[in-house]
Amino acid sequence: PATSTSSDAPASAALLERATRVIPGGVNSPVRAFRAVGGTPRFVAEAKGPWLTDADGRRYVDLLCSWGPMILGHAHPDVLEAVRTAAARGFSFGTPSENEVLLAEEIVRRVEPLEQVRLVSSGTEATMSAVRLARGVTGRAVIVKFAGCYHGHVDALLAAAGSGVATLALPDSAGVPAEMTADTIVLPYNDVATLEATFAARGSEIAAVITEAAAGNMGVVPPAPGFNEALRRVTRIHGALLISDEVMTGFRCSPSGWYGLEGPYAGGAPDLFTFGKVMGGGFPAAAFGGTAKVMAHLAPTGPVYQAGTLSGNPVATAAGLATLKGCTDDLYPRLEATARTIADAASAALSAEGVAHTVQWAGSMFSVFFRDQPVTNYDEARDQDTTAYGRFFHSMLESGVHLPPSAFEAWFVSGAHDDEAVSQVVDALPAAARAAASG
Ligand code: PMP
Repeated sequence: PATSTSSDAPASAALLERATRVIPGGVNSPVRAFRAVGGTPRFVAEAKGPWLTDADGRRYVDLLCSWGPMILGHAHPDVLEAVRTAAARGFSFGTPSENEVLLAEEIVRRVEPLEQVRLVSSGTEATMSAVRLARGVTGRAVIVKFAGCYHGHVDALLAAAGSGVATLALPDSAGVPAEMTADTIVLPYNDVATLEATFAARGSEIAAVITEAAAGNMGVVPPAPGFNEALRRVTRIHGALLISDEVMTGFRCSPSGWYGLEGPYAGGAPDLFTFGKVMGGGFPAAAFGGTAKVMAHLAPTGPVYQAGTLSGNPVATAAGLATLKGCTDDLYPRLEATARTIADAASAALSAEGVAHTVQWAGSMFSVFFRDQPVTNYDEARDQDTTAYGRFFHSMLESGVHLPPSAFEAWFVSGAHDDEAVSQVVDALPAAARAAASG
């Protein structure tokens, strides 16, 4: 069958039916709903190392890694121990506590340009707060973002957004009044000339440019050589801030993130960075940060308000710290080797069946576009055979491999992906390539 049906996953189908009564669409984040690929989303009951086990007891190699966070694999013993120890001491204090300091110190130590971070609970909060801070610091309103980049469901940033907005082919989100995006300028990714023209026309109104350090939410589209440096140069000339969103790439593309791979930039580091995913180790923890001078504009020292009941939660920060401790220098070559093996096998299988495809990379993050030309921006990302991806996805799922349920998402591996897991992926690919070819 082109799509796996509820008969492949009766327990998941039953849970989905119950979920759909009490949760819109049956899911708490739209990308989980299999809308683009069809079929029944698997309700996961348990996860260990590189494996997901669904409610029917079927095991899948996990190439989703919770959309990025699970870089050490699921339920890593060191992280589990840290969580147990922290939880035994209480779940949330509403006062400052040591774990927040330890996690902030670890992040600042890893990411060279950072002097301070403020901890929050989601990537969305991190980018929302960074945008507010940039507006507060500059006294300007306009934000520039790039089509296909996703920065969480922040009103002002839900314009031509990637991830689930791309998957569902939504023009934009309803419920975002025009005033909320009136100060948002959306530009094509990797296009320096358009950026320069925009700044030439409106530079004095622009508070910040926000960009994914390397785009991962329209599939993986790395910045063209010099693109991020051009953002730095142009923003600096016009007195705007540069916000590098490393929610996905942070601690994933290198021990620090994308900037650790690509930087330093000739014109200096981005003014603000945002993080999430890996730094929470699978718990709700995220951050935004910059120099002490910029961060001093935040309450309580400055006038830009930002807060959170659960910010710096002691259990989440313990999980994040234990995860970052496990992100040793030798992890990254291993992630890349695992990812290469899988990507090369996917490419060989698709080539053997004559299926047009292109693999693109940012560190160990990669994605397979079902088109033969490289992808440099959102228009090109959308110009691919998403129905072929759907057939490919479902064949892999039947063979016990859980890919992202959309052609617009990155594939992730973890340090726990061992030979057994990688072999199961490689063995599944020829049949999936045949399914993709069978359109
Ligand atoms: N920015 C980027 C680059 C992301 O990839 C994401 C999530 N995929 C977010 C922000 C939002 O993070 P969260 O889902 O934790 O709100």
